[in-house]
Amino acid sequence: MGQENDGSGGDLHANRSRRRHTRRRTGGYTAAVRAAQAGKTVAIIERDKLGGTCLHRGCIPTKSLLRSAEVFATVKEASSYGITVPEGVPGVDWSAVLGRKSGIVEQLHRGVQALMKQNKIQVVYGNGRVTGPSIFSPRSGAIAIELQDGEQETVVPKNLIIATGSRPRKLEGLPYDGETIATSDDALEWTTRPASIVIVGGGVIGVEWASMLSDFGTEVTVVETADRILPGEDKDVSAEIAKALKKRGVKLLTGAKLQASSCRTADGGIAVDVEASSGIETLTAERMLVSVGRQGNVEGLGFENTDIKSANGFVTVNTATLQTNEKHIYAIGDCIGGVQLAHAAMHEAFVAVDHLLGKPSPRSADRDIPRCIYSRPEAASVGWTEDGAKAEGFQVKTAKIPLRILGKALVHGETDGFAKVVADTATGDLLGVHLVGVHATELIAEATLAKLLDAVPWEIGRTIHPHPSLSEIMQETMLSLEGLAGH
Ligand SMILES: Cc1cc2nc3c(=O)[nH]c(=O)nc-3n(C[C@H](O)[C@H](O)[C@H](O)COP(=O)(O)OP(=O)(O)OC[C@H]3O[C@@H](n4cnc5c(N)ncnc54)[C@H](O)[C@@H]3O)c2cc1C
Repeated sequence: MGQENDGSGGDLHANRSRRRHTRRRTGGYTAAVRAAQAGKTVAIIERDKLGGTCLHRGCIPTKSLLRSAEVFATVKEASSYGITVPEGVPGVDWSAVLGRKSGIVEQLHRGVQALMKQNKIQVVYGNGRVTGPSIFSPRSGAIAIELQDGEQETVVPKNLIIATGSRPRKLEGLPYDGETIATSDDALEWTTRPASIVIVGGGVIGVEWASMLSDFGTEVTVVETADRILPGEDKDVSAEIAKALKKRGVKLLTGAKLQASSCRTADGGIAVDVEASSGIETLTAERMLVSVGRQGNVEGLGFENTDIKSANGFVTVNTATLQTNEKHIYAIGDCIGGVQLAHAAMHEAFVAVDHLLGKPSPRSADRDIPRCIYSRPEAASVGWTEDGAKAEGFQVKTAKIPLRILGKALVHGETDGFAKVVADTATGDLLGVHLVGVHATELIAEATLAKLLDAVPWEIGRTIHPHPSLSEIMQETMLSLEGLAGH
């Protein structure tokens, strides 16, 4: 939760250069820094650790594990780069892998704490609950805090931003114990790597864990109810990632329904029945990871004392301004649902704070927020999928170029993947860009900027891209759409 007191206002733009030096990741503290830089007096109420899910249970720890897995995979293929590994086979020191992850998280955690000090933001550690009109304030929005030492405190802000995040959705009927049957939060606490695993849910989190564990040598089965993994992504992205995972021995059961009540733990592992197109299949593994989506943290926040509403487990907001039904109270990030990503939460933090400062800034459409999957190979997309655009009524034209045409991809030794562009036949507008391949999560920023600036494909195609670089795939694909591909 981030809250902001009456203050002097201040000029956001005067602080532009200072803001460039800090990179913030989740909703609450991004909003706090933004408001503090505008001259507001700000406090954050946090019941756990600054940095939230992204820093402690999400983006950063998982990407650290994925990077270790990628290095291991590269070392195993060292001979193809002309590098020999004396004394044979490389191995994995799992506790060192975990130690590296914890070191990165701790370093960034210290950075966030310093950032709060630097911006004179008060951090109150405790569980916050919104109160209604009271002797403290004639209107709702004061926060009753149960401090970590058991004491109580109340703060009375002029504005309040709710950024309470989300938690893993659980499947009813599964005997979770955090070890054998775990959520993604639990899995980050594992001190050993499983020899085999069933991952329930083939969305982003499930696919990243499948990629990482299979690279480390775990036998992986993914169970997905939809007819393909990554069902929210363009069908070509799903197919390419599925192909890469299968090539590494990952078993993908799509169109398959887990029978949660059949799950039993035995012999130090699990057994569970899955209803697949071929009939009932019994899967066994050392562990099970359940990654079937996330639900907003909206309970116990005292909304009943206010006009704030929630629906389907997420706070209801005005989609343009992010105000709740109480106009001086905003909500941002995972707790409002929609795109549950750290950079979406950051963007929403800017929108909410700018609005309460009286300098409204536009909120991006959900589909224009880049979506990244840090598997091997990576995938990244922005805008409409081909099928989504067609369903919306666009007449679309597409171009798709494989990564292997690039000299830089060959140099990297990573040629799996492609770039695909979806454009509007009638107007030539760029509708969507979908990338699979090494560093796709970096390359997508160009397409995101292009969408923001309303650039059309031929403008990207005529932009000079460095050679040799992976970014040439963007240029080639845009030129191909115009019938001008160089390769
Ligand atoms: C495994 C995994 C991997 C991910 N990887 C990525 C990625 O690579 N890239 C990406 O963009 N996103 C990723 N995400 C999503 C990203 O972590 C979230 O979208 C982001 O953290 C949301 O930010 P937030 O500010 O809304 O909430 P959070 O980061 O969850 O922060 C909410 C904070 O509120 C505190 N809080 C809650 N209730 C109270 C209360 N009553 N009183 C006081 N404090 C309270 C919590 O302790 C927490 O610190 C990942 C998520 C997971 C689970």
